[in-house]
Amino acid sequence: MLNSFDLVIIGAGPAGLSAADAAQREGLSYLVIEKGTIADTIRKYPVGRTMFSTPNEIEMSEGSLKPVREKPTREELLSHYIHFVLDNDLNINTAEKVEVLTGNIDSGFSVLTDRDQYVASRVLFAIGAMEYPRHLNVFGEDLSKVHHHFVEPYAYVRKEALVVGGGNSAAEAALALSQEGARTTMAIFREDWENRDPKAGAMKHWVRTPLEAEIAAGRLNVILYKQVDEILETEVRLTTETGESVVLPNDVVFVLIGSDADLTILKSLGVGTELGKVSEVPVYDPETFETNVRGIYVAGHFTHARHIKAAIDVPRRIVPLIARELRVSQTPVV
Ligand SMILES: Cc1cc2nc3c(=O)[nH]c(=O)nc-3n(C[C@H](O)[C@H](O)[C@H](O)COP(=O)(O)OP(=O)(O)OC[C@H]3O[C@@H](n4cnc5c(N)ncnc54)[C@H](O)[C@@H]3O)c2cc1C
Repeated sequence: MLNSFDLVIIGAGPAGLSAADAAQREGLSYLVIEKGTIADTIRKYPVGRTMFSTPNEIEMSEGSLKPVREKPTREELLSHYIHFVLDNDLNINTAEKVEVLTGNIDSGFSVLTDRDQYVASRVLFAIGAMEYPRHLNVFGEDLSKVHHHFVEPYAYVRKEALVVGGGNSAAEAALALSQEGARTTMAIFREDWENRDPKAGAMKHWVRTPLEAEIAAGRLNVILYKQVDEILETEVRLTTETGESVVLPNDVVFVLIGSDADLTILKSLGVGTELGKVSEVPVYDPETFETNVRGIYVAGHFTHARHIKAAIDVPRRIVPLIARELRVSQTPVV
């Protein structure tokens, strides 16, 4: 049947691309279904952003990513992934969203998208963890000047900008805004500001050092805050950690406090979840990455293996296991 595959892979980020490559090498019939574009999460990074990772951690094959500087930019990495797809002619449908999945390992899985329907012997979820940007849930957060995503600073020169958040994304946005002439305030919890442990998500030192230089130069204002109270057209009211109420003049707000995966389809299949370091993650076998529902696999940013390196490494390990199992189950008994 034309729409029937050994393996359907949901998502064309680094995990999905690595899985597609592995499936192709194993001679499996496979399809990647991607609701956005190839490497959509990376396409949505801030313009010109330099990666934290070195080429060997994020390239699809050894020595193939050759950035101009030590670490690649968003544009260099994106181009690398796109050319990997083109050069290897990977089977990917973009602009197609998986909406419903039913079935089981014995009868096969039925994959329903907003465009078509497919049958799959096995399904690998490589859906990332960017679906739901976290919200403050305060009055005024629905105003058009409030963003949950930062792309570039150039529209905000001499504007009053507030960045809320304590991770690297928030720090990078505050730094870029401040360096490019926005009058920037960063609202951050004390525990995040004082966190120096990289394993616990502390700001990278190459972000903190220039950030501190901006503060020392008097261009960037940092407020250790308890909560944002309300966002109005021309100002934001927040409460500092010492309980003081502060009103800031404001033109634009960036709420950069993380995001969560959409686990709805996995849960509807009966996949269990547990609390990970920063969010809810599916329950899976740490060796095979098969969930508690047989035939359903997970890889990438919404598992415990969150960085690109693991997103690429895990499918290389588990897709050959899937292929082997399929070959055994499809061998006729004589
Ligand atoms: C600003 C920023 C900077 C980062 N910098 C680094 C870094 O320097 N180094 C590093 O290792 N990591 C970094 N990360 C994290 C990195 O982006 C992730 O680890 C990586 O993207 C994970 O790859 P993935 O394939 O698991 O998920 P993603 O790349 O998120 O891919 C998941 C894909 O699934 C698609 N999808 C989701 N649901 C569906 C559906 N129902 N149907 C069809 N398609 C669907 C999405 O559109 C998406 O394209 C950064 C993240 C951000 C936000």
